[in-house]
Amino acid sequence: MIPNHPPGKPDIAVIGSINMDLVLSVHRAPQIGETIIGKSMDMLPGGKGANQAVAAARLGGRTAMVGRIGSDPFGSQLRQSLSDSGVWTDRLRVSQTSTGIAIVTVQEDGDNHIIVIPGANGEMSEEDVKQNEDLIRQCEVVLVQLEIPLGTVRSAVRTARYCGKLVILDPAPAADLDVELLGMVDILVPNETEASHLTGQKVAGIEDAKLAASELLSRGVRQAVILKLGPHGALIATAKGFVHVEGFRVNAIDTTAAGDTFAGALAVALVEKKDLESAVRFANAAAALSTTAKGAQSSVPGRAVVENMLKRI
Ligand code: ADP
Repeated sequence: MIPNHPPGKPDIAVIGSINMDLVLSVHRAPQIGETIIGKSMDMLPGGKGANQAVAAARLGGRTAMVGRIGSDPFGSQLRQSLSDSGVWTDRLRVSQTSTGIAIVTVQEDGDNHIIVIPGANGEMSEEDVKQNEDLIRQCEVVLVQLEIPLGTVRSAVRTARYCGKLVILDPAPAADLDVELLGMVDILVPNETEASHLTGQKVAGIEDAKLAASELLSRGVRQAVILKLGPHGALIATAKGFVHVEGFRVNAIDTTAAGDTFAGALAVALVEKKDLESAVRFANAAAALSTTAKGAQSSVPGRAVVENMLKRI
């Protein structure tokens, strides 16, 4: 296959999940044993790994995706959509199973049910990481989330650490992480829910965030905990103290993938050697803009719009 990407090497490796989200709009969810007629279905490319890779690429980062798709039409569609956003896709591996999917049933009242079938994502192995060690060596930043098996996450983080790369871990969806893993992570980017899960403390607002972020630093996170605070932006916690970087005021209509946009943008800014505070400001701007449009990958803004936002305020 001829790789559909610019010449040269990527700077960011995203190691993670790739899903097709099937979003079903229904009046109300069916009861057990009941059949209902729904209103519509949208097929939307998703998966935290893929969302973050698309965000990084669209914001100007030279980005490669390491992940698995299934041997079905969803797999080819997802490869194409990643590639259309400028993501290097030649490191995707095809599993003899189904592509990861999420079936999201959205009721008229806004409540939803979600079923995730990890499929190929669940087959991401330590071997996959080993096979991509050369890619990891070429990059500067390695971005990982928790929608692939934890052993594979650990292996990705360890390899990146060993190769001296900047390791960013987005601990989503929330899971328990041991100190051995946290101690190999340079930058941890939890939201309030994940920070609360990791620390066992309630996290709602800046003061709680400071306590939780300090706790996570004390468990070994190497450089910074950047705790995302929704409309309030993000709190940076390092050994030097805290910096609260305010969010941008926007008319948010759909916060799906705001955190993924944040992570992708952060990786791009750090490759560009922005300092942590400027990088978080850039990530806040990109993530805020992503909330002003519906969808996951489709809502990620381009670089020019983000630069305009940064100039405005
Ligand atoms: P996640 O999407 O991972 O749950 P958050 O909800 O904290 O995390 O959102 C991630 C980032 O998106 C925030 O740090 C902020 O920069 C931006 N963001 C989210 N919601 C809004 C909003 N309503 N207005 C402006 N920015 C937002």
